[in-house]
Amino acid sequence: MRSIRDIIPGLVAFWVTVLLVLSFGAPAYAVEAVSVPLDGRTLDLRAALEMYTDAGARLQVSTAPGPDGIIRRIEVQARDPDIASNWAVFALANTGNQQIDRLLVAPHYWLPGSGLFTPDLGRTRITNITPSEGFAPERVPSKESDVFLITLDPGAVVTFIVELQDERLPKLELWEADTYRDSVNNYTLYRGLVIGIAGLLAVFLTIIFVVKGTAMFPAAAGLAWGVLIYVCIDFGFWNEFFDLTASQNQIHRAASEIFLSASLVVFIYTYLNLDRWNTTYRIAVMSVLLIMAVVVAIAMIEPSFGAGVARIVFGLTVIGGMGLIGWMSWMGYDRAVMIIPTWILLLFWLTAATLCVLGVLDNDIVQPALAGGMVLIVLLIGFTLMQHAFSGGTVITGDLGDQQRRALALTGSGDMIWDWDVMRDRMIVSPEVEQKLGLRRGTLESHARDWLEFIHESDRDRFRLMLDTVLVQRRGRIVQDFRLRSKNDDFHWFSLRARPVIGSDGEVVRCVGTLTDITEQKIAQERLMHDAVHDNLTGLPNRELFIDRLQTALTRSEVDDAGYPSVIIIDIDQFSDINDNFGLAIGDSVLLAVSRRLSRMTRPQDTVARIGGDQFAMMLISEEDTAKVENIATAILRTLKSAIPIGDEEVFLSASIGIAHFEEEQISAEDLLRQSETALYDAKRKGGNEISVFSEVSGDAAGSRLEIASRLRQALEREELVLYYQPIIKLEDRSIAGFEALMRWEHPELGMLAPAEFIPIAEESNLIADIGLFALEEATQQLAEWQQSPRIRTPLFMNVNVSSRQIFRQDLINDVKSVFLRSPVHPGSLKLEITESLVMENPEYAAQVLERLRDLGTGLALDDFGTGYSSLSYLQRFPFDTLKIDKSFVRQNGQESQLVILRSIIALAHDLDMDVIAEGAENESDVVELTDQECEYAQGFLFGQPMKASEAEEMLFRSTSYTTS
Ligand code: C2E
Ligand code: MG
Ligand code: MG
Repeated sequence: MRSIRDIIPGLVAFWVTVLLVLSFGAPAYAVEAVSVPLDGRTLDLRAALEMYTDAGARLQVSTAPGPDGIIRRIEVQARDPDIASNWAVFALANTGNQQIDRLLVAPHYWLPGSGLFTPDLGRTRITNITPSEGFAPERVPSKESDVFLITLDPGAVVTFIVELQDERLPKLELWEADTYRDSVNNYTLYRGLVIGIAGLLAVFLTIIFVVKGTAMFPAAAGLAWGVLIYVCIDFGFWNEFFDLTASQNQIHRAASEIFLSASLVVFIYTYLNLDRWNTTYRIAVMSVLLIMAVVVAIAMIEPSFGAGVARIVFGLTVIGGMGLIGWMSWMGYDRAVMIIPTWILLLFWLTAATLCVLGVLDNDIVQPALAGGMVLIVLLIGFTLMQHAFSGGTVITGDLGDQQRRALALTGSGDMIWDWDVMRDRMIVSPEVEQKLGLRRGTLESHARDWLEFIHESDRDRFRLMLDTVLVQRRGRIVQDFRLRSKNDDFHWFSLRARPVIGSDGEVVRCVGTLTDITEQKIAQERLMHDAVHDNLTGLPNRELFIDRLQTALTRSEVDDAGYPSVIIIDIDQFSDINDNFGLAIGDSVLLAVSRRLSRMTRPQDTVARIGGDQFAMMLISEEDTAKVENIATAILRTLKSAIPIGDEEVFLSASIGIAHFEEEQISAEDLLRQSETALYDAKRKGGNEISVFSEVSGDAAGSRLEIASRLRQALEREELVLYYQPIIKLEDRSIAGFEALMRWEHPELGMLAPAEFIPIAEESNLIADIGLFALEEATQQLAEWQQSPRIRTPLFMNVNVSSRQIFRQDLINDVKSVFLRSPVHPGSLKLEITESLVMENPEYAAQVLERLRDLGTGLALDDFGTGYSSLSYLQRFPFDTLKIDKSFVRQNGQESQLVILRSIIALAHDLDMDVIAEGAENESDVVELTDQECEYAQGFLFGQPMKASEAEEMLFRSTSYTTS
């Protein structure tokens, strides 16, 4: 309980105040005095402050009541009356009996509560202090704070009126002088340490950048420099050097904050490599930096705006960065994962800093602690970067030597090294080769000869030959595919590419190159090959493969006396009904069932193929006996008749079968298959569900054709083929200018056969090559003989017909070469006659061949011109020197239109620099017309039929100038 006596002085004081106030008539409030502790504790005066903002240049205040309880009124005049003055008033009481000296400290910059958007960046706070009694406090020089020395007499209560620069006074403390000095000294030590670490870090990251040259290092170094500058400014270090005014200091502080946020943006951008795939990030970062540059300019005038922007950008970068890092870590990006701890720390820092600037966190150590924290975070970033810088090894980034680059490229390509030290005969391969083959390490490091045992039997000789060749030739490249045996006895394909290395003595000292595992490629190739020659649905060989196998079997039966093949061809009757009634899927299943049933009936050496939609063919080698083959066919019919279950239903089939037995030598696979087809149609004709054998049905035409084909080879051997020569006359003087060689077959039974009867057949088989070569050799030899004969003085040429099969065989050019070697003739006097249709089959290729033939010195005549469809101007691309007009144009039979065509052909040929030979000149009137048209040569019955060489020779001897009379 308070006693009345306690209350009385208070009541008295109250009334005195009221009185005084009343007596002066102006509003004024007395402050309450704070008693200064005698033990030297620091006193925070903010709670005791009374603020007067915008109070004008004069301020009247009531003093705190003194020990006598009297409140007085004083008026203070602003020192700088132009600035609308803000004031703060407080009162101090010395309750002891000693004089007290204290320092009044108001820091220029105080982070806590400085604000987020337009922060208070610090300034001179106090212009002047007026005490209510005694001497004015003395200003103590300091760059960071306004410091005043205050002296209080024992028992004194003094009211201080503080004239402020603006309305803010974030902090005001009363310090005991020694304590203050100690505190400042302590902080100086701490600051020195932090600045030292920050400085080292900045320098270190800069050096790393110079060494490593990766973009994230300059970005991190920039960040470190930013922090260093910020800390220097914050710790007042900056001011020590530059001696700035408080407002300059604001600009520097704002600029440092902007720089710091900008460098954080750049850092996260480069660190996460955001520009690698995406230009949006780059654009975003560029715009942020541009804005920041503008903000710096604005900050020159309005620093607190700049700092505000910087603080917001910083905050957004940290938060946005966290999002990005989280996302990229989720996507498995290593760098993002590694920066997570640092960034979480940064988030904490940001939270603390935000609370601080908003004034929630407010004490003496928060500001230096935040600065220290910032340095710590950059230190962590530095460490994270170091990990990246050194984890990849020194080889990976930066400049490489050429050798290193090659080595790396080799590793990257997945190729393996193959090295053969020839001098010591040691082969060395990368361990991967042995790994792939499941061999022990070092197994393949052996002599060349030991390697052979690992190489596939069929590749061994090639491999050895290749190495020997390189050693002998001492140059060239080794390019070879071969198989190596693995531990499990299966083979892997490798492709070897290497080069010999020549020693100083010119010998090969080693061969070095790479091995590539191409097993998969080879398998794919085989697959492709398989798909190309197999039927998709049943997996059976297709028609091409069947014919190929049949041909092989035929050849083997001739050469090795192996078994003779028979062909059974099976066609399902009315298969289209199945498709129509049950659908294509069921149709396919039926075909599959048929293919399985057929396959079961053959032996391994036989072949079943699907050669058409519902046609299967069987090549039987396992059975030679014709009766047994026919039994098999019967069995097939039976098998196919048994029901094929498809779902709930059953399908019943019947088939027609044609059989062809091997009967004649020399028959081609196609012919044998054709025979079986002929038999099959016969079976079909009989109504299906039948078996026919070819020999029983052999059609007449087919029979004689085959007969001719099989006899032709013998004909060549027995010299039944002969060349006849038909003279070609020079119309100018009607002399013999040359001959066309025309083939005849003097058949012992059938008599003389014209080329039309056997050449097409020869073309179907491969015989045409031999026959063609025979004609070429024979005719050239004859020409050479005549040209050398002293009795014949006129220059002669010889025309030889060439078939399409000949021209599209590689050998023609070589054949011509060797013919010329054996029988030398005058250049251009051997002319090859080629028909237009032949050229048009493959114009590009024909042009090439013709070009080379002409280069060899052969003349080229375009035969039977006019029977095809191509225009002469088109044919002009080919190097023909002679045009042979077909007999259908030459024999006019009084037709005017024929004549017109003949004339224009001759004129056109002359325009194109070609000589013209008219074929089929049968009577004198034709020749007169031709002579009128200046046609150079003519050939026809009028001048002579195709005749034997001896007759042609006689004709030559008889007349140098030939006339029809
Ligand atoms: P081709 O090259 O146009 O030969 C001209 C054909 O016209 C020859 O028929 C010749 O006997 C016939 N002929 C010549 N003058 C007259 C005439 O005044 N009136 C009529 N109506 N016909 C005449 P041939 O000998 O039966 O030869 C037919 C075709 O066979 C030749 O046509 C040629 O394309 C080809 N040929 C001939 N020998 C060979 C050869 O050794 N190799 C090749 N690949 N084909 C040849
Ligand atoms: Mg001809
Ligand atoms: Mg002709």
